[in-house]
Amino acid sequence: MAARILYGKDFAAKIKEDARLEAEKILKATGVMPGLAVVIAGHDPASEVYVRNKHKACGELGIFSLAVELPETATKEELLARIDDLNRDDRIHGILVQLPLPKGLAAAESEILNRIDPVKDVDGFHPVNVGRLSVGEASLVPCTPAGCVRMLELAEIPIDGARAVIIGRSNIVGKPMMNLLLQRNATVTVCHSHTKDLAAITREADILVAAVGKPGFVTADMVKPGATVIDVGINRIAPKKLVGDVDFEAVSEVAGAITPVPGGVGLLTIAMLMQNTVTAARLQAGAKK
Ligand code: NAD
Repeated sequence: MAARILYGKDFAAKIKEDARLEAEKILKATGVMPGLAVVIAGHDPASEVYVRNKHKACGELGIFSLAVELPETATKEELLARIDDLNRDDRIHGILVQLPLPKGLAAAESEILNRIDPVKDVDGFHPVNVGRLSVGEASLVPCTPAGCVRMLELAEIPIDGARAVIIGRSNIVGKPMMNLLLQRNATVTVCHSHTKDLAAITREADILVAAVGKPGFVTADMVKPGATVIDVGINRIAPKKLVGDVDFEAVSEVAGAITPVPGGVGLLTIAMLMQNTVTAARLQAGAKK
């Protein structure tokens, strides 16, 4: 039987509408419009599209947005100085540095991201926010895994007691996903490039999350019949062709529910960024009372 297809737009619309309503409430109560600054260095074409999409989403939801553009040749000190300005700027509640950074800055990525004030860290990458998530006191959580978990909740797919398997242990997807599912009482296994007999583990999953970055990596024989399969992967296999990590055609014959690529998780990420910006504004407005 063909799987239920979990289209990101359906869930993203709900997440964005909730963010819009909350932004409106904050504005009425405190006179503060939530604000997001996106810092971009250089001219990576994909990054420029992402930044435009973020700006557009902000406009739709009543969120002030600021694009801070730096040249490809910007120094670490220049970038850190801009982040310091934004940390002090009262109009800005969320700061995001668009990745990847240009070659000359890549080695300083951690130092640059860690310069963002944790209360404005809407990507949830700062060690303070990583720590808060791991002890169950999360406020700003990385957008992609947070969006996936919100989608499961909105789709009424049970997490409590489910066997969840995540393929990929990155700081931006795999590890925060592990914490979010664990907090919702799933039994979680995280697999990675050194995992032995991967298929035997993935076949146990009620919820299988693929965040590997390899097209067609998850095949039908790796999936338990009826499982929910979340495909986080984004792989460009031709100039205009994106695919995920999951062999969608074959796996959708076995799975109970599955996210497509494109049209799945990617849309949730930007919706959660909007929600995180509003959450950050609420927390900062509360702190100033
Ligand atoms: P990453 O490269 O940091 O991590 C990949 C992970 O896959 C690693 O932990 C590695 O151990 C694991 N892996 C690699 N080969 C493996 C193998 N043979 N068996 C088991 N595990 C293996 O990647 P990432 O940043 O987590 O991103 C993963 C994918 O998700 C990429 O395609 C990326 O583009 C995509 N992504 C999408 C969104 C979105 O908004 N939809 C957001 C972030 C990342």
